[in-house]
Amino acid sequence: MLPTIKMNKNTPVNLFWFRRDLRLDDNHGLYKALTAGNPVITIYIFDKNRTSDFAKDDIRHSFIYNRIEELNESLKPYNHTIHILYDTPVEAFTKIAQEYSIKTVFANEEYEPYGIERDAKISDYLSSQNINFQLYTDQVILHPNQALKSDNKPYTVFTPFSKKWLSVLDSQEISFYNSEESLSNLSKEPHLKIPLSPFDFTINKASRLNIRYPAEIKLRDYESKRDFPAMDATTKVSTLLRYGLISIRRLYKMSYNHSFVYAKELIWREFYASILFHFPHITTQSFKKQYDALPWILNEEHFERWCEGKTGYPIVDAGMRELNETGFMHNRLRMITASFLTKHLLIDWRWGESYFANKLHDYDQASNVGGWQWAASTGNDAVPYFRIFNPSLQSIRFDKNNEYIRRWVPEFETKRYPKPVVEHSFARLRAIDTYRNVTNNDQSR
Ligand SMILES: Cc1cc2nc3c(=O)[nH]c(=O)nc-3n(C[C@H](O)[C@H](O)[C@H](O)COP(=O)(O)OP(=O)(O)OC[C@H]3O[C@@H](n4cnc5c(N)ncnc54)[C@H](O)[C@@H]3O)c2cc1C
Repeated sequence: MLPTIKMNKNTPVNLFWFRRDLRLDDNHGLYKALTAGNPVITIYIFDKNRTSDFAKDDIRHSFIYNRIEELNESLKPYNHTIHILYDTPVEAFTKIAQEYSIKTVFANEEYEPYGIERDAKISDYLSSQNINFQLYTDQVILHPNQALKSDNKPYTVFTPFSKKWLSVLDSQEISFYNSEESLSNLSKEPHLKIPLSPFDFTINKASRLNIRYPAEIKLRDYESKRDFPAMDATTKVSTLLRYGLISIRRLYKMSYNHSFVYAKELIWREFYASILFHFPHITTQSFKKQYDALPWILNEEHFERWCEGKTGYPIVDAGMRELNETGFMHNRLRMITASFLTKHLLIDWRWGESYFANKLHDYDQASNVGGWQWAASTGNDAVPYFRIFNPSLQSIRFDKNNEYIRRWVPEFETKRYPKPVVEHSFARLRAIDTYRNVTNNDQSR
């Protein structure tokens, strides 16, 4: 084991701030920190500004905490510990700056409005202390400003975005960052001089995420099987990507050779990150402004039936119950359930977005808002409002033998199963009329 070097307040150090990048390999910001010349302290901050938005027993806190414990196990040979703090980020850095002589704070960029605002505050604070703050692109392959139109404006339609994105990537090799090879530059100080405030949320030591890249066979079969929810045919990497347990660069590179359709899904992820970065108002407003005038029917009883998976539409209910029981929902079902809420029940997409945000282990604001605005036809490259999913036809097409439905709705085809909350043809025409009125009345187009 390496000897412990006692640092005093004047020893210059750098700091790496783990956020959505909980891995040691191919970690861009970590690599830059480790190769910048000073010993590196590492931290993770459970952000007090955000934790109150979650239930006390939200499993996602446990995923993060247990993952850091896992990383700390791997870092034992380096006599290094990633320090956990429970504070607001500004408070945390204020305390750290009093104890250490930090030269530069390194981290990877975030593109959600909260992350951008938080980083701007941290940047101001650090610069007031003469500390540098350097951010790197890691969560996505290309920074949202790297794939722009010729007039430097962001794309709002997926196909031209993906063409530009691919052409930018073609013109340069994907760079990998061997952070794992420079871990000996981590500081050898096992305890941070800042005590950890007690959490007001619970940690379940058993809730861990399994790290794995998709198997080749899964990628090869992806195109033909991915739409059938009863099959285990999608790769279920979204939660790993959410917390950065796997590298998007490695995933893209390995998948590209086996399935372009799959690689394209990863470009959708980049697209939504870019849309949120350039149009942050879409977290609360429709991308297409006219749809903010939609007269939503805010029927709480209907909303509850949708949340609980008791709408009387078996495919919708199966999707919602999968979500409630597992924290995951197959993509086809995300589209069907979101369409049902916004079109059949005419309930505001923001209610649905927020319900998914509370439940999905892979919750990612860019993809979630993007997916919801797509389904609600209010988004930038959305399904046209008059193309309304028919839940029965979706079942016949994608779950012919009701295998997925039976898995999640045991009382399906029994007397205990609820009657439909709304009749399909009526709901379809009502939605088309409602959307048409708003579309036709729009003066701003
Ligand atoms: C209403 C709605 C809400 C959604 N909310 C989220 C969310 O909060 N977090 C999230 O990661 N994805 C979200 N998605 C996108 C998609 O449903 C999930 O990424 C996918 O189901 C995750 O399962 P998987 O990893 O097995 O996907 P796979 O089919 O194996 O795809 C691999 C990866 O590609 C990316 N991807 C695939 N489809 C999409 C897509 N449509 N948009 C963006 N990225 C995609 C994801 O990173 C995914 O993990 C949402 C989609 C809809 C329609």
